[in-house]
Amino acid sequence: MRRASRRENPMSDTPTLRCDGCSACCLHVGSPPFLLDLKNGSPVEIGGEDSRADHQRLLAAPPEARAAYIASLETNDLPCAWLDVDDKRCRYYNFRPDICRQFEIGGKWCSQLRGLHQIG
Ligand code: SF4
Ligand code: SF4
Repeated sequence: MRRASRRENPMSDTPTLRCDGCSACCLHVGSPPFLLDLKNGSPVEIGGEDSRADHQRLLAAPPEARAAYIASLETNDLPCAWLDVDDKRCRYYNFRPDICRQFEIGGKWCSQLRGLHQIG
């Protein structure tokens, strides 16, 4: 699978800010933040279009990605189970959750997390 840059934002007002070499927003979530619940060991939707889309993405992801998601569900304040910490890239970028797709590059939380990890 192609290992793409974690995020793409061609419409960003801050074109000089890039995700390459960052990954600050993936360092504390523990588990990929899908809008899903777990029922009898299987991921289930929690309602709404975004959750449905997340469910479809997770079902389409490679088996090892789904296994890593389920195994990491009880973790927090750790790097995301899908993050390649050395490369600072999402291993399963094409299947990333809706929340990851909506996260605003250069926004308030991006800036705070970059500051926390001293990424200029
Ligand atoms: S914190 Fe901001 S710049 Fe860094 S990876 Fe996340 S969205 Fe990209
Ligand atoms: S799923 Fe990918 S983009 Fe989302 S937090 Fe995890 S590593 Fe980051």
